[in-house]
Amino acid sequence: MKKHYPVIIVGGGQAGLAISYCLKEKDIDHIIFDKGQVGDSWRLHRWDNFTLVTPNWQCELPGYKYSGDNPKGFMNRDQTYEFVKGYADMFNPPLENGVTVTSVDKVGDIYEVQTSMGDFTSQEVVIASGAFHNPLIPPVAHKLPNTVKNVHSSEYKNASQLPEGGVMIVGSGQSGCQIAEDLHLEGRKVHLCVGNAPKSPRNYRGRDVVEWLDQMGYYEKSIDTFPDPVAVRRKINHYVTGRDGGREIDLRAFALEGMKLYGLFNDVKDGEIHFGNNLKEDLDKADAAAQSIKDRIDEFIATNKIEAPIEEPYVAPWEPESDISSIDIAESGITSVIWCIGFTPNFKWLKLDAFDQTGYPRGHRGVSDIEGLYFLGFPWMHTWGSGRFSGITQDAWYLSEQIAERLLIEQ
Ligand SMILES: Cc1cc2nc3c(=O)[nH]c(=O)nc-3n(C[C@H](O)[C@H](O)[C@H](O)COP(=O)(O)OP(=O)(O)OC[C@H]3O[C@@H](n4cnc5c(N)ncnc54)[C@H](O)[C@@H]3O)c2cc1C
Repeated sequence: MKKHYPVIIVGGGQAGLAISYCLKEKDIDHIIFDKGQVGDSWRLHRWDNFTLVTPNWQCELPGYKYSGDNPKGFMNRDQTYEFVKGYADMFNPPLENGVTVTSVDKVGDIYEVQTSMGDFTSQEVVIASGAFHNPLIPPVAHKLPNTVKNVHSSEYKNASQLPEGGVMIVGSGQSGCQIAEDLHLEGRKVHLCVGNAPKSPRNYRGRDVVEWLDQMGYYEKSIDTFPDPVAVRRKINHYVTGRDGGREIDLRAFALEGMKLYGLFNDVKDGEIHFGNNLKEDLDKADAAAQSIKDRIDEFIATNKIEAPIEEPYVAPWEPESDISSIDIAESGITSVIWCIGFTPNFKWLKLDAFDQTGYPRGHRGVSDIEGLYFLGFPWMHTWGSGRFSGITQDAWYLSEQIAERLLIEQ
């Protein structure tokens, strides 16, 4: 006989723990399987000087809130790990660590869940296995000479793990910009391939931008209110950092300090790296994105007659003279490349056709159109915070209510 649970949760990161807490509050029997240990995403897959970009006051999980003495600060990697671990310690969830879910299928009304610990059945399955699975390193990486070490952002820890010499960072999203800054501050020669990620101010008119956006109701805005949800979900995160109390990242300022900026990493040929000619355009677009956030804040301040200090407009401190189309790898001294271009999903173990043509779970607010199947922790399931600490609480409570209703109907 396979052991049966009303609910099986795949993944015991913050999302899996959050739904477990809500189910426990409702006395709904369940089990969580996680192939690793609590907080592994934070402990194992972030660099040493990592900090959250979201402020501490936004960090909450059901029944649990940041309670330290620095609500406006930003947790570093170890503090974030402790935060998640502390949550699990607080309510003692029914969690099986070190157990990989190898297959989830549905036969009739029952889910069949195969794991490295044996086979189980359930009425409901919650997929909380995270949105960042396989580190993406593109095929062109293999065209680099073997004197160059390839590393993915999820494996990067610090400068000492890289061979002596210059480092090329590919990707200027949050991870790319923060890792570029980390190595730049370590005194490494950094080469950064810039893409179309937007920039965010950190502080504006006396407050952290997240505080303004919160007051403006942005974090409560549901995905259903946007005319093009697919475009919203595809948007790249703004780059900004929480390091040293939080600051804006200005790639132009880095360039003035000696960081080399290029366009997209396009190809490797005859010992040279070839770039796209997008650098100027993408730096301008990143600044325009930051300016549009400031404009919205200005409008909010004016409409609500809030007293706030005026700020001088941003003046670009550096302009690329012309796009560099290629560099010689040996001459440039580059000995490692860090790929900061994201992840690809891996749901091979989910034997059900649960995704739309964009690869996003079908359904609404995490409730799949396959009855009894749920997704939690994915970006923009309901709001901006759905894939982050700030929105997981309301999403988890919502799913637990849907599950409770269905289990009641089934009884
Ligand atoms: C670089 C980076 C920076 C971020 N910064 C912030 C930030 O500043 N603020 C913020 O709020 N959010 C941030 N996030 C987003 C988000 O908070 C994290 O991605 C968080 O880890 C998501 O939690 P989760 O529980 O959904 O997924 P995860 O933490 O990835 O947990 C999923 C769990 O599922 C398990 N699992 C997966 N597949 C299986 C399987 N088949 N069987 C068993 N177990 C399985 C994994 O072992 C893992 O423990 C950041 C993300 C990244 C990548």
